[in-house]
Amino acid sequence: MASIARLSEDDLRWMCCRCSRPLEVGPVELTYLGNSFTLELPRCPDCGLYLIPEELATGRMAEVEQILEDK
Ligand SMILES: [Zn+2]
Repeated sequence: MASIARLSEDDLRWMCCRCSRPLEVGPVELTYLGNSFTLELPRCPDCGLYLIPEELATGRMAEVEQILEDK
């Protein structure tokens, strides 16, 4: 499985805002440009809320596009 997100310790300090539980890294299915793919992201084990790393949230999806092209 490709892991494009470089997770920092800061990412793993996040708590779920709904459950107040620490996030755990696990597979999260995302959809981008009509394609779905799975990334290892910090997510809430209870409700499934997940954290998008800043480099993804700011639109730097070039690496993701590369993954999709490799399919
Ligand atoms: Zn939660």
